[in-house]
Amino acid sequence: MSRELTIVGAGLAGALMARLLAQRGWKIDLYERRGDPRGGPAIGGRSINLALSERGWHALRMAKVDKAVAEQAIAMRGRAVHSLHGEVDLQPYGMNDSQVIHSVHRANLNRLLVSAAADAGVQLHFDHALRGVDWERSQLVMDTPDGPDLVSFRSVIGADGAGSPLRAAMVSAFGLDEQISWEEHGYKELSIRPLTDASGGDPQFRLDPHALHIWPRGKFMLIALPNADRSFTVTLFLPNEGDKSFAKLDSRGAVRAFFAEEFPSAVPLLEDLDQEFADNAVGPLATLRLQPWHHEGRALLIGDAAHAVVPFHGQGMNCAFEDCAELADLLCDECELAPAFAEFYKRRKANADAIADMAVENYYEMRDHVARADYQWGKKIESALARRFPDRFLSRYAQVSFTNLPYAEAKARGAIQAEIIGTLASADSLEQIDWHAAGRMVEERLQALPEHARLGAPKEVR
Ligand SMILES: Cc1cc2nc3c(=O)[nH]c(=O)nc-3n(C[C@H](O)[C@H](O)[C@H](O)COP(=O)(O)OP(=O)(O)OC[C@H]3O[C@@H](n4cnc5c(N)ncnc54)[C@H](O)[C@@H]3O)c2cc1C
Repeated sequence: MSRELTIVGAGLAGALMARLLAQRGWKIDLYERRGDPRGGPAIGGRSINLALSERGWHALRMAKVDKAVAEQAIAMRGRAVHSLHGEVDLQPYGMNDSQVIHSVHRANLNRLLVSAAADAGVQLHFDHALRGVDWERSQLVMDTPDGPDLVSFRSVIGADGAGSPLRAAMVSAFGLDEQISWEEHGYKELSIRPLTDASGGDPQFRLDPHALHIWPRGKFMLIALPNADRSFTVTLFLPNEGDKSFAKLDSRGAVRAFFAEEFPSAVPLLEDLDQEFADNAVGPLATLRLQPWHHEGRALLIGDAAHAVVPFHGQGMNCAFEDCAELADLLCDECELAPAFAEFYKRRKANADAIADMAVENYYEMRDHVARADYQWGKKIESALARRFPDRFLSRYAQVSFTNLPYAEAKARGAIQAEIIGTLASADSLEQIDWHAAGRMVEERLQALPEHARLGAPKEVR
């Protein structure tokens, strides 16, 4: 089999996929509609920073770019939950300091991955926007600044994002089943500038940089993630229509009044609120469910092009990176592409569906539950169970964020764990709980965790 592939989309998944395959001796052509990001200004577009967790790190380690990424990443140890009255409650994500997620700058990460792909020998073609596919002639129809270009391909991977034109061409030619569920909520990005002092000292963060900040307000929320330049990227998630909604925030006065009422502690930090609210568009949120993701050995979709999810578990990129790692392992030198693509889909589909569900559930957790007493009591029990039974019990959040357990397994174990916690939650204190009975329940209902998923396991490439 000739080891040649064409990839469309040099975003996060496309650039990493290209690097991983080129490192293994594949000849890769990578096409991207935008200009070359290397050396240029930050790429515009969606969210400025992203939460990177273990699945993403695993793929970055495989590509040998983890150290370069780590130099720019900021560790976030937990959620800092800001109440309406200004109190801040730090809720750790993990059981120790190795169980953290990291904030990374999207544009810098993309630049780094594109450079790494080029270093591995990938042929890069910028300013090439896929418009359509002539399947009979095996040609991609590209728009370029010099006019249309026809690019021949043997097999093409679409890493061209949630709005994937390759997916559209596959849906119309091969009848893939595509379902898109739009959320009734959207998002808008704002920012918190670093604190500078007049004497010219180093700029400072205006909030704890080692936390993901949340202002949960029941039906909506504001979040903030730190950047290496000591600013924070802030995102407002809000219903599009209704009483408290983007539709109602149609004037500077309405925006000011809403923020003063709902996020008073954030207002002094949002110096550019008026301008940013007016300038930045409301982004849509949706979940894509597609089947299958491939057609024979000729075309395959990965990342958001195959399974875009809502951003509330911070897993879209991590799941896309996990796709890259898994596909690179499946594309061996001798194997045919058609069965490899089919096997990839078989392995990934249930996991993509599981993270899609968990991401939607996490919106309710972040915007509402984190501020509630019954949730916090449940978290205390969860944490006590994880400490007492570390070989079997690990919070679902930790399974998703700090291990490589398949998402579907994390979801299934999480459901059992929620039932166990529910049974124990009628106690008034941890001391009142019958831990022997709890241990029996854990032993009967939960299989032992694999070694790497146990508390404090080292993080080498697995
Ligand atoms: C508000 C928000 C916050 C998020 N936060 C997180 C987070 O904290 N953690 C996390 O893991 N995930 C997060 N995500 C999800 C994450 O952004 C995506 O899952 C990730 O970008 C998917 O990578 P991708 O390479 O599949 O797609 P993209 O990153 O969208 O890349 C697609 C690439 O294809 C190119 N392209 C598009 N059309 C064409 C064309 N016609 N021809 C050629 N090239 C084309 C694009 O220019 C782009 O470079 C968030 C998403 C949003 C919206």
